[in-house]
Amino acid sequence: MGFGVVSRCYFASLVPSQLSLFTPSKNHFLFTSLTTIINMTMMYISHDISVITETCDDIAIMYGGNLVEYTDTMTLFEKPLHPYTQALMGAFPSIKGEKTVLKSVPGEPPVLLDPPPGCRFHPRCPFANGGCKNATPEFREVEKGHWVSCSNIG
Ligand code: SF4
Repeated sequence: MGFGVVSRCYFASLVPSQLSLFTPSKNHFLFTSLTTIINMTMMYISHDISVITETCDDIAIMYGGNLVEYTDTMTLFEKPLHPYTQALMGAFPSIKGEKTVLKSVPGEPPVLLDPPPGCRFHPRCPFANGGCKNATPEFREVEKGHWVSCSNIG
């Protein structure tokens, strides 16, 4: 686990080798306790969406080194807008409702030394059109407090 303290904000992340030592419930307890006790903002960086949901008020989704969606946790789960966020949600198992087949995101993550032109998600996006590989979508607020980088939204 790593912590970086910058002014009144700390950054936390877990590397895979530490996952066996820290269960999601321990992470949640540790992070929320630290945030409460020392009254600081925490930035938690992880692929574990269940811990993020329990721990964080707001969520920023990144793809290929770029921010693609940002909003509060409830809004993100109830109404994910970016196709990559939607794909992430579809790849995460739920303990509620009917059993469904998990969907994986097709293709490979971009090589950041030579990223795809335009929207970096376009080679894997089911909604990509001709314009997606020509222009980088602007990261903009499409609803109050809900920011997305996709030219097909809003
Ligand atoms: S800009 Fe195009 S390729 Fe990128 S996420 Fe939106 S629809 Fe998909």
